[in-house]
Amino acid sequence: MNQTRSAALQEADRLMTVCNACRYCEGLCAVFPAMEMRRFFGDGDLNYLAHLCHQCGACYTDCQYSPPHAFNVNVPAALAKLRNESYEAYAWPKSLSGAFERNGVVVAVVSALSVAAFVIGFVAFENPAVLWDRHAGSFYALMPHNAMAALFTAVTLYVIVALTMSLRAFWRDINGGSRVGLEAIGRATADTAHLTYLHGGGGGCTSEDEKPSPARRIYHHLTFYGFLLCFAATCVGTLYHYVFGWPAPYPPYSFPVVLGIIGGIGLLVGPAGLFVLARQRDPILTDRPHRGMDTAFLLMLFLTSLTGLLLLILRDTGVMGILLALHLGVVLGLFLSLPYGKFVHGLYRFLALAKYAREKKSGAIVE
Ligand code: SF4
Ligand code: SF4
Repeated sequence: MNQTRSAALQEADRLMTVCNACRYCEGLCAVFPAMEMRRFFGDGDLNYLAHLCHQCGACYTDCQYSPPHAFNVNVPAALAKLRNESYEAYAWPKSLSGAFERNGVVVAVVSALSVAAFVIGFVAFENPAVLWDRHAGSFYALMPHNAMAALFTAVTLYVIVALTMSLRAFWRDINGGSRVGLEAIGRATADTAHLTYLHGGGGGCTSEDEKPSPARRIYHHLTFYGFLLCFAATCVGTLYHYVFGWPAPYPPYSFPVVLGIIGGIGLLVGPAGLFVLARQRDPILTDRPHRGMDTAFLLMLFLTSLTGLLLLILRDTGVMGILLALHLGVVLGLFLSLPYGKFVHGLYRFLALAKYAREKKSGAIVE
C-alpha cells in the first residue's frame, strides 16, 4: 500500500477489498460492477468509484458487515469522505482549495460582500435614494446593462477556467488522460438526466427509518432541472437583448419569464426538500464534518431563486432596488463559489459516469 495515502483513501481501499470478496451488493448501483473489474485499487480508481456513488445508503442497510460488526463496513460514508477530500485535491488554483474545508463560512462571506458591493455600487452610481425609488421594473436604471454584463461575463469566464482545470485533473487521475467516445458521453448524459443510479437498487435512497424512498431523487430532479431552466431563462434574455434588441424587463407571459418562474419554483422546492431530508438522514451515512458544504450550496440555490422570484413580483415597487442588489449579490456569490463548493460534485460524477459507460461498452463490466 502507498504509505503516503490519506486516511480516506486507505479506508476506501480497505472497504472495496472487503466488498470485492463479498459482492452481495453488485446489483445496487454502478460502484460495485466497476469495483468487480479491479483486483487492486489505485488512488484514481478509488476516486472514480467515490464519484460513481450517489450516497443512497442501500449498501449500508443491506450490509451484514456494517457496524457494530468488527469489519465496520460503511461504504456511503467512506466514499463521501473521499469525494469531499478529492474536491480539494483537484481544485484550481491550489491556493484556493482551502475554500472547500470552510465552505459554509467562505460562501457566507463572499455572498455578503457581493450584496454589499451591489448596494454600494448602486448608491455610488446614482444617489442613496435610488435604492428606494420606483423604476417601473427597469433594472438598468440602477446599473447600466454593459456594466452588469461585463461583471458577470468576467466571473463566468473565471469559473469556466477554474472548473475546466479541476475537471482535467480529475479526468487524468481516474482515466490517465485517455479519450472517451461520443457514445459514452451520450450514455452518461442520459444517466445524469434520469439520475439512473439514485434509485438505490429499486426503491430509492434509505433514510433514518431504513425504508427506501424516492424523495431524494425527486428533489434532486427538481433542483437539477430548476437550475437548468433558470440558466435557460438567462440565455433567452441575453438573446433577446443582443439579437433582437429587446431589453428587460419582459412581461410575465414572455418566454424568459415563464422559464424563470418554472425553474425558480423547482429551485425553491428541490433545495428545501434536500435540506429537510439531509436533516432527517442518519448521520452515520454521511461525512459529518463536511455537511456544511452541502447546506451552503442548497442555501445559495434557494436564495437565488427566492430573491429572483421576489424581484419579479415586486419589480414595479419601491423595493425593487434593494431586491435587485440582493439578487445580483447572491447570484454573484453563487457563481464565485461554484468551483469551490458542492456544484463540482455533479461535474465529476458526469465524468465518472462517462468512464463507466466506456468500461461497460468494452465488456469489462457486466451488470
Ligand atoms: S457493502 Fe457489505 S454486503 Fe455490500 S458488498 Fe460490501 S461487504 Fe458485501
Ligand atoms: S451508497 Fe448507494 S450509490 Fe453509494 S455505493 Fe452504496 S449502493 Fe452504491
